[in-house]
Amino acid sequence: MTIEMWHRDDGVDCPKLFCDYCGDPIEDLHDGNAEWTANNPDVAFTHKDCCLAFEELHGGSAQWLTEELSWFFGYLAHNLGFDQEQWERDPGRQMMEG
Ligand SMILES: [Zn+2]
Repeated sequence: MTIEMWHRDDGVDCPKLFCDYCGDPIEDLHDGNAEWTANNPDVAFTHKDCCLAFEELHGGSAQWLTEELSWFFGYLAHNLGFDQEQWERDPGRQMMEG
């Protein structure tokens, strides 16, 4: 799982998610998956185009479970008590958008 703070040219840091297969940033929730196995709950993130290659490199695709990032982060935000209305009202949120 690779989440890093990305340093923008204007000096502001913002969170970015990187593919655990190719190492490039995942820029769109619909272009990536969260992956884990029944025996290991650690979560990996991949581009959809990197998903099968990642799974083959790590024991084969039969053992991997996946969820598109749009759903995965929706569930995570819900489980953390994310408040969409508060988010949209907070002018400070734009500081960390990449
Ligand atoms: Zn990738």
